[in-house]
Amino acid sequence: MDLGEKISILAGAAKYDASCASSGSSGRASGAADGGLGYREPAGICHSWTGDGRCISLLKVLYSNVCRYDCAYCVNRASADTKRVSFTSQELADLTIEFYRRNYIEGLFLSSGIFSDPDIVMEKLIETAKKLRTEHGYGGYIHMKIIPGTGDKMIREAGLWADRLSANIELPTDLSLKNLAPQKNGREILGAMEDVADTTAQYEEDRRRIRTTPDFAPSGQSTQLIVGASEENDRQIISLSGALYRKFGLRRVYYSAFTPVGVPGRGGIPDPRLPDIPGPPLVREHRLYQADWLLRFYHFSSEEILDGATPFLDKHLDPKTAWALKNLRRFPIEINRADYEELLRVPGIGATSARRIIEVRRSRSLSFDSLRRIGVVLKRARYFITVSGGFIDRPEDPGRIRRILSDSDGAGLQLPLFDF
Ligand code: SF4
Repeated sequence: MDLGEKISILAGAAKYDASCASSGSSGRASGAADGGLGYREPAGICHSWTGDGRCISLLKVLYSNVCRYDCAYCVNRASADTKRVSFTSQELADLTIEFYRRNYIEGLFLSSGIFSDPDIVMEKLIETAKKLRTEHGYGGYIHMKIIPGTGDKMIREAGLWADRLSANIELPTDLSLKNLAPQKNGREILGAMEDVADTTAQYEEDRRRIRTTPDFAPSGQSTQLIVGASEENDRQIISLSGALYRKFGLRRVYYSAFTPVGVPGRGGIPDPRLPDIPGPPLVREHRLYQADWLLRFYHFSSEEILDGATPFLDKHLDPKTAWALKNLRRFPIEINRADYEELLRVPGIGATSARRIIEVRRSRSLSFDSLRRIGVVLKRARYFITVSGGFIDRPEDPGRIRRILSDSDGAGLQLPLFDF
C-alpha cells in the first residue's frame, strides 16, 4: 500500500478523537494534487492550542488502526469491518518532517489502536517521537496519547518526548466502560493521569534544585469524554470534569458528541449496545464546553452549575445565564463597587472584561458606555447590573429574560465563548 493511502486511512481513523479539536479544514494546500501529500482533509490536519494559548495546525494521525479492543463507539474496534493498516516509526517520523518542512503543520497528534501489548504500542509512539526529536532535530509540538494499560515506566518516558500527554477517560462511569468498552479499565486510566500529575510535580520540584532538569510534558495533560453514547447526565459529566481538574491538574477536558459509527461506510454493522440516534448531540456538547469554561475560568463549582433537580444543562440558555436566572436574588450587582468574583458571575462579563473593569475603576467611575467599550455584552449583562445606581433593565421576571436571551433552537452556536 502506498504512503498516501496509509495517511488517508490512518488520519481518517484518528478524526473521532476530540482531544485535538478538528478544524474541519477541507481546502487543498496550494500546488498539491488531489489525494497527494498537500491535500489537507484526508491528511488529517487539525487545529489545537498549545500550553501558551497559541492555535497551531497538527497532523492528527494513528500509528495503526489495528486494535484488539472492541469499544462499541469506535470506528477502529476489533469487530469493525474496516481496512487495517500501520505505519512504521520511520515512515511516520519522515512524513511529519515532510509536512513540517512544507509548513503544512506545526505539530503532531499521535495516537494508535492497541495492536499489541499496551507497552509495546506505547513504545512505538515514543520511538516515533524520539526519532523526530533526535534524528530530525524536530522542535515542534507533539501531543501523544497514553495507550490504556500502559505501565508507569512508559508514561514517564513518553512525557520526556511529548509536549502534551492525554489518557482518554471516554465514558463517565465504570458501568458505561464495562458496557461499551469492556477491555478498558477506569482505574487504570485514572492511574495514568495520576502518574502524569505526580511525575510533572516531581520534575518541577527537581527543577527548583537542578536547573538543567528536562521538561516533562510541558503542555500538561488532557482527556476526552464521549457524550451521548451512554446514559449519564450532564451533572455526572461536569462533576467528573471538576474532579479531574482538581485532582490531576488537567489542562483540558474535551467533550466529543457521540457520532453513530455503525452505519455503512463508517465501520460496518450498528452495535446494539449503542443508542439509536440520528446524529451527534452537538448542542449538548457545546453546552458542556460552556459549563467547562465556568469551571476553569469563572470559579464555579460543578454543584453550582447543576444539581439533583436539574441534572441536564439547558439546551436554550448558556449555563452562566441559566445559573444567574436561578439566583436572581444575588442581582443586580453594582459595577462600580463589585469585586472581581462578583463581576465574573454576571452573564455578558468575561474574565478579561472583569479585569478591565477593576483596572479602569481605579481612576474613574464607569458608565454603560465605558462598559460597552471594555467589551461587556450589555445585551446580556443589562438585566443583572446597575451602574452608579442606574438600570438599563431590572432583574425581574425571569421568564421574560429567559425568552429574550434564549437561543431559539440551540443551533448555530459558536465555540469557544470567552465572554458568556
Ligand atoms: S482501544 Fe477502543 S477506542 Fe481505542 S482504537 Fe481500540 S477500539 Fe478504538
